[in-house]
Amino acid sequence: MRLSRYFLPVLKENPAEAQIVSHRLMLRAGMIKQASAGIYSWLPLGFKVLRKLENIVHEEQVRAGHIPMLMPTLQSADLWRESGRYDGYGEEMLRMQDRHGRDMLYSPTAEEMFTDVFRSHVKSYKDLPLTLYQIQWKFRDEIRPRFGVMRGREFLMKDGYNFDLTKEDALHAYNRHLVSYLRTYERMGLQAIPMRADSGPIGGDYTHEFLVLAETGESEVFYDAEITDLKFGDREIDYDNVDQCQAILEEFTSRYARTDETHDEAVFNEVPEDRRRVARGIEVGQIFYFGTQYSEALNATVQTPDGSSVPVHMGSHGIGVSRLLGAIIEASHDDKGIIWPEGVTPFHCGIVNLKQGDDEADAACEALYKSLTALGLEPLYDDRNERAGGKFASMDLIGLPWRITVGPRGLKNGVVEVTCRRSGESEEMPPEQAVAKIAGIYAGL
Ligand code: ATP
Ligand code: MG
Repeated sequence: MRLSRYFLPVLKENPAEAQIVSHRLMLRAGMIKQASAGIYSWLPLGFKVLRKLENIVHEEQVRAGHIPMLMPTLQSADLWRESGRYDGYGEEMLRMQDRHGRDMLYSPTAEEMFTDVFRSHVKSYKDLPLTLYQIQWKFRDEIRPRFGVMRGREFLMKDGYNFDLTKEDALHAYNRHLVSYLRTYERMGLQAIPMRADSGPIGGDYTHEFLVLAETGESEVFYDAEITDLKFGDREIDYDNVDQCQAILEEFTSRYARTDETHDEAVFNEVPEDRRRVARGIEVGQIFYFGTQYSEALNATVQTPDGSSVPVHMGSHGIGVSRLLGAIIEASHDDKGIIWPEGVTPFHCGIVNLKQGDDEADAACEALYKSLTALGLEPLYDDRNERAGGKFASMDLIGLPWRITVGPRGLKNGVVEVTCRRSGESEEMPPEQAVAKIAGIYAGL
């Protein structure tokens, strides 16, 4: 993309309404614009990152054997009356009536809808196990929307629902989700720690929340510092392998890690003192096993091998896709702006032309742009007629992890400069080598 043809409305001033750094940087970098309280328009740069996160979530869910589909955002109230949640859900549910006076709502979550699809079409244990999921906008009329996309009213969520014949199978689905989430967050450059949580209104005995440590997080968390050394890495996973998934769950959840809702001071004190940590975290996902609560309420049953009929065991599993943008920025920025992890960056690198209009510099930038594009990479070429300082400031603000700087002086010696956004270190090299370096960085991603 050439910046002169892109739509990147960066702000020079710090927006007064933003209380935390991720919100401020998303507004300044021209990623989002508030439409009304807790509701945002996604401008091109923000939309690009959102799509990248969505893709990673999809890839990892499909890898785990889960099946994507899409539910409507507007739902009839009847299903929610049937499950018994319509009255109880409270003011967070946005309710409305259509022209015929029928009660409708904007889905805050979708247990009912998925269970309804399931019960309409699945009748036999032979069709299990089954995990269906979607990435879809949700609406919760939060009493205090704040921190930009972190606590919005309209937000993008991946929500998945497993249907299994037995509790044992459903717990395997639970473990599979935990494993797939660990991979998902790591690919986004995040460490999200699974912590024992409270199941709240969804109910059930098994639940973990995934938390990204950040001072601005809304949850207080307590954990054993050893946890932060755990890395998922690129291990081979066989998602059908019950023992392997169970072992990974144990590896990542056996140490003390809890949110304030489940925190137990006495148990925490058994952790050696120098490893006890109290911090704040951002919830970026949650998994649940809740048994047959919804399948009983909604009569979602299957025939067992011996011909009897039983309610299926279920769980639901969410990832806050739009909140993740904020979480990633909270975890990865400096005073100059965002620092995108390579796995989610909106453009792979920037190209800064120090002397737009200089024939040689223009030609070198064009050549770099073409070579990178031919390799399937997306550079953002700052081809505007602006001062170098302004170009650097914009690049730093929007946070591309790598920058190639091209100027007449370097070109005389046959070199351009490659700069790492995170370390600030620069290296001079011939343009072909710069292309190879950038391509190498993204080769495994
Ligand atoms: P919270 O405790 O933060 O209100 P929750 O536990 O009610 O969240 P879940 O029902 O577990 O949320 O939804 C799954 C994920 O969706 C959460 O882990 C979170 O990342 C994201 N999420 C929930 N509410 C919001 C919101 N208002 N804005 C943005 N993301 C949200
Ligand atoms: Mg939650």
